[in-house]
Amino acid sequence: MAAAAAATNGGFDAIVVGGGIMGSCAAYAAASSSASRGGGARVLLLERFDLLHHRGSSHGESRGIRATYPQARYPPMVRLAARLWGDAEAEAGYRVLTPTPHLDMGPRADPALRAAIENGGAAEVVGASDDSAASWPWSAVFRLPEGWTAASSELGGVIKATKAVAMFQSLAAKNGAVLRDRTEVIDIAKQGDGSILVKTSSGEEFHGANCIITVGAWASKLVKSVAGVDLPVQPLHTLICYWKARPGREHELTPESGFPTFASYGDTCIYSTPSMEFPGLIKVCAHGGAPCDPDRRDWCAGGDALADPVARWIDELMPGHVDTAGGPVIRQSCMYSMTPDEDFIIDFVGGEFGKDVVVGAGFSGHGFKMGPAVGRILTEMAMDGEAKTAAEAGVELGYFRIGRFEGNPGGKSC
Ligand SMILES: Cc1cc2nc3c(=O)[nH]c(=O)nc-3n(C[C@H](O)[C@H](O)[C@H](O)COP(=O)(O)OP(=O)(O)OC[C@H]3O[C@@H](n4cnc5c(N)ncnc54)[C@H](O)[C@@H]3O)c2cc1C
Repeated sequence: MAAAAAATNGGFDAIVVGGGIMGSCAAYAAASSSASRGGGARVLLLERFDLLHHRGSSHGESRGIRATYPQARYPPMVRLAARLWGDAEAEAGYRVLTPTPHLDMGPRADPALRAAIENGGAAEVVGASDDSAASWPWSAVFRLPEGWTAASSELGGVIKATKAVAMFQSLAAKNGAVLRDRTEVIDIAKQGDGSILVKTSSGEEFHGANCIITVGAWASKLVKSVAGVDLPVQPLHTLICYWKARPGREHELTPESGFPTFASYGDTCIYSTPSMEFPGLIKVCAHGGAPCDPDRRDWCAGGDALADPVARWIDELMPGHVDTAGGPVIRQSCMYSMTPDEDFIIDFVGGEFGKDVVVGAGFSGHGFKMGPAVGRILTEMAMDGEAKTAAEAGVELGYFRIGRFEGNPGGKSC
């Protein structure tokens, strides 16, 4: 926030480190904010690998959006993000989000499911009486176990993931940001004049007034080495699975026929997006994965351990609609960045950096939908010292502080 000297000395107003969804949204928010303040200000996005690479968390065909969260802190951020997705699409002139209904299902008394229904304003479509079970939307597809319920909500949809990251990178560039890929940041330091110096592995140096760190699964390593701060972010290897619809069932599972994104509570946490990107295939996956080192990945670790519970779930709850016999037709690797309480980290790094360096990390397998909101929030924190948009949207940032782990390694588990 301070150190305007950096910009006037040929440096940047803001340097964003990491070009996944969070960094790309932050670069766009910073560039468009700089442009609206009269121009002249500059934003730099540094990405270690190629732009739109497949080695982090933001690549691939699809991510789901929903407001049904067991924790009341997320729906306001989802709603803010939904508005910002629309604004960005309008500026880009094309869509990355296909709206669909969203369905949550699980044991009727499950406390997390009950809270998600309430917080997300969902309507229960399967009531306590057996009669209602015969006539609820999608009752022809799902066979709910005894004692389960299902709730439908309007805020749902499928976001084309890589296309969305590319959209924000294009919009950032259009608003004057400089994008540099194949540029690994190895150090971030505070200078005597208050500016921030960013060093890369190739020996290049960049000066900025502020820095926004959004390096996904690499967050613990980088933040520890530059600021000595411990972020409990554990990378997990996870798997995206596409399964073949049974002949004749393909069209029932598409957004065009009104099929929803869905999440299933209970013993295994399952999520899905409708058949879209690969005609005749539907994405159904298990939330979770095996711990991994992002620099030493075994690209097939935990494959069957993640796919087998999904196959069992499909056979039980979607009988006759999806073929599981040969396993998933397509498997794609991805990484989660888990915090112990699965809440995000959105905070100032602090120490000598004061309010000039912010970090967004630990998105724990559910951050993509909120990318535009997180990018805007991080940018306002770095450039203005506070996130006005979050306050106006009712987003309570206190939940996402690094300090919650001090003397409490589990964070705010709920
Ligand atoms: C299989 C799967 C399914 C998911 N489904 C959903 C969903 O349905 N809905 C939802 O909301 N979310 C979902 N998520 C979560 C969501 O995709 C992530 O929360 C989000 O992509 C995290 O983005 P990020 O920008 O923090 O990380 P990343 O995308 O990993 O970006 C970090 C970037 O920083 C770069 N970087 C690292 N170190 C450096 C360095 N030193 N210098 C420069 N650059 C560096 C990396 O190369 C990378 O490009 C899913 C995730 C996965 C894996």
